[in-house]
Amino acid sequence: MRIHWFPCRKRAPACKKFVMPSSVMLFCRSTKGPSFFNLIVVKMLKQGREEVRIMETQTMQTSPSTQIVNVGGFDIGGPNFTVIAGPCSIESQAQFMETASGVKAAGAHLLRGGIWKMRTSPTAFQGLGANSFDMVRTVCKELNMSLVSEVTDVRQIEEVYDIVECFQVGSRSMQNYELLKELGRQKKPVLLKRGLAAYIDEWIKASEYVTKMGNQNVILCERGIRTFETATRNTLDLNAVAYAKKNTHLPVIVDPSHAVGIRALVPDLAYAAAAVGADGIIVEVHPRPAEALSDGMQALTLNDFSMMMKKLDRILTAIDRPLHKAHKAEVYV
Ligand code: PEP
Ligand code: MN
Repeated sequence: MRIHWFPCRKRAPACKKFVMPSSVMLFCRSTKGPSFFNLIVVKMLKQGREEVRIMETQTMQTSPSTQIVNVGGFDIGGPNFTVIAGPCSIESQAQFMETASGVKAAGAHLLRGGIWKMRTSPTAFQGLGANSFDMVRTVCKELNMSLVSEVTDVRQIEEVYDIVECFQVGSRSMQNYELLKELGRQKKPVLLKRGLAAYIDEWIKASEYVTKMGNQNVILCERGIRTFETATRNTLDLNAVAYAKKNTHLPVIVDPSHAVGIRALVPDLAYAAAAVGADGIIVEVHPRPAEALSDGMQALTLNDFSMMMKKLDRILTAIDRPLHKAHKAEVYV
């Protein structure tokens, strides 16, 4: 019986705990024919090699991501950090314009804004739908910015194809596989939120529904998961961000707004996202959160957002992961 222990030995730095003591190896080498002991050693070595393989795969994954997704001229997953900001819902032309121009002035790169909303209650505001299309066209054109917005149904993809630069898949739709497959046939990027009770593995496999159909431009978004904790809306799973960065080739961003649900805590979680290695954030902002038709409790004011951007800029500079340059000059005017 031949025991191939040399490869494992050579890769020893990555798998010290599986390296056989030399006395055991000598014993193995000198033993002719299979024995119970040999079989155990072979099993251990196989496990060792498997461990090495996993570790090598992991160490090959580097930050930045190998798949860089360009949205409206900004690379997500490359060396720079991207900020997507705007209201939870587009409520009126005036509200969307005021929010969008405010976040642009404070350094946001891309806009967010819900056209169709997935609300827990059917009596809650469901979004303006088609009535907001002209508002989106006007604001995006005037500010020269691109919109990330959720599609909740395959039929909506075509309806907003010309006005939305990146399709968001909401937490509640993460396992809508027909929607994922249809988005996989599109040429525009997809921002895939993690389901509120989804395992990381389910989230990653959901992304494969899109990529398998041909669209490689997928951005993962951790937006908090449901845990036993009730003091905050959800629990931001920073583990998931670190895990997805190491174990997938996709960019990973964080939504601190839905993760915590409390305005005063949103900036701290945005800083944590930057520190853990996220490629960007998507944040809710409203000029007057008390008047917001959805998610007012977690919306930053324009002033909150501007202050957060200044601190985020300093943190990102310190960790050598600067914000994209666009609009940056306007942060300091
Ligand atoms: C949203 O972005 O407004 C939203 C509804 O997010 P989620 O799907 O993460 O709840
Ligand atoms: Mn929201």
